[in-house]
Amino acid sequence: MVTNSQLFERATRVIPGGVNSPVRAFRAVGGTPRFIARGQGAYIYDAEGQRYVDYIGSWGPMILGHGHPAVLEAVQKAAVEGFSFGAPTEREIELAEEILKLVPSMDQVRLVSSGTEATMSAIRLARGATGRPKFIKFEGCYHGHTDALLVKAGSGLATFGHPTSAGVTPGAAADTVVLEYNNVEQLEAAFAQHGAELACVIVEPIAGNMNFVRASLPFMAAMRRLCTQHGALLVLDEVMTGFRVGLGSAQAHYARLLPGFAPDISVFGKVIGGGMPLAAFGAKREVMQHLAPLGGVYQAGTLSGNPVATACGLATLREIQKPGFFDALSARTQALVDGLKAVATDNGVPFSADCEGGMFGFFLLPELPQNYTTVMTTDKERFNRFFHAMLDAGIYLAPALYEAGFVSAAHSQADIDATLAAARAALK
Ligand code: PMP
Repeated sequence: MVTNSQLFERATRVIPGGVNSPVRAFRAVGGTPRFIARGQGAYIYDAEGQRYVDYIGSWGPMILGHGHPAVLEAVQKAAVEGFSFGAPTEREIELAEEILKLVPSMDQVRLVSSGTEATMSAIRLARGATGRPKFIKFEGCYHGHTDALLVKAGSGLATFGHPTSAGVTPGAAADTVVLEYNNVEQLEAAFAQHGAELACVIVEPIAGNMNFVRASLPFMAAMRRLCTQHGALLVLDEVMTGFRVGLGSAQAHYARLLPGFAPDISVFGKVIGGGMPLAAFGAKREVMQHLAPLGGVYQAGTLSGNPVATACGLATLREIQKPGFFDALSARTQALVDGLKAVATDNGVPFSADCEGGMFGFFLLPELPQNYTTVMTTDKERFNRFFHAMLDAGIYLAPALYEAGFVSAAHSQADIDATLAAARAALK
C-alpha cells in the first residue's frame, strides 16, 4: 500500500509544494496532506484506506455528498455524448434558465469555468458598464487569484491596496481600494473620497474566506445605498454562498432582512458545477449587454459552458430544489454547530460558531468576529492541535482557521454525533 507520505514526497518532486492549490499542502496546520483516493456520500477515503467524515466537500461544491446517483447518471450520459464542442448546446440554456429561476436579481448569466474567472469578468464588466476604473474590496474576502484582487489594505484609511502576491505589479493593485469588512464609516469615507471613480464594490455576503463572518445588516444596507447614490455597481460574490446557504443564495437571505435588497451583479461557482469546473456571473440585461459579442467588454473561454460540467451542475441544482432539502440540510448543520458549542462550553474552551444552510464556521474565540483582524487573533497553535486531533479521529475539517466548513445532504445524524464525540475528546 502506498502511504500519504510517499505520495506527498513524490508529488513535491513534480508539482510545486506537492499540490495544485496551496491550502491543500497543510502548511498552516503542519503534517502530511491526505491524498484522497475516492469519496462516497459524506466520506472521503485516503490512499491508506482511512475514512474521514468530509466537512470540506471540495470547498463547497459537493452539497449532495460524493457520488450522488442522479448526478453520476447525468455526468455519465453527458460524457458519452461528448466532452466539449466549443459550440453552443441546449444544456447551457437549461442551466442558465435554472439559475435565473432561482435568482431574480439577474436576467442573464454567462457561464465560465472557475470562480476566479467569474469575479475577474464581473469586475471587467462593472468597469466597462460604468466607464470607471476603481473598485472596493474588503480585507479577508477572497475573490480568486486575479492580479487586481490579490491586494491588501495600505497603511491609511481608504488608501489603495498593496499586492499580496509577488508578481502582481503596484499598477495592477493601484485601482483597488481595500477596506475593513463590516466597517460602515470606512465605506462612507471611501465613497466620499473616490465615489465618482468607483465602478463597483465586490463583497462576499457571508465571508467564507475568513472562516464565517456575516456582513452586518447596516453594512450591507450601506453598500447598497452608497453604490446606488454614486452610480457604482454592487457585486455579490456568491461563489461560496450561492445555492449553499439557501435556495435563493445569500442575496435572498439579505432581501428578507432588508426589503428590496438586490445586488447589481452576482457571481456563482462551486455548487452550480456540482464538483465540475463551472462558474457564472450575471446581472440585469442592461448590464449584461455590455459583454461581447453584444458590447465592448471582452470575455471568452474554450471550455465555457462545458457539456459535462453543465450536466453535473444541472443535476445538482435539480436535487437541491426538492421539497425540504434546505430545511434538512440547515437542521443538520445547526445540530453540528450547537453540538460543538456545547462540547466547548463543557470543556471551558472559548468558542463561537455560526451557520447558514449547509455552510458553517467556528472560532476558538469567545465571540463571533466581525472582521479579518479579529479572526486572526485566534490561537493558531490551539486550532492546529484541534484540527489534527479531529483528523486522527477521522473528521476532516478545513486545514486552516480562516476557512469555512460545509455539511452535505449525505451527512447523517450519526456522522454529526461521531464528530461531536471526536470534538469532546479533542477539546479535553
Ligand atoms: N470567490 C469566492 C468567494 C471563493 O470562495 C472562491 C474560491 N474559494 C473564489 C471566488 C475563486 O473560485 P475558484 O477557486 O473556482 O477560482
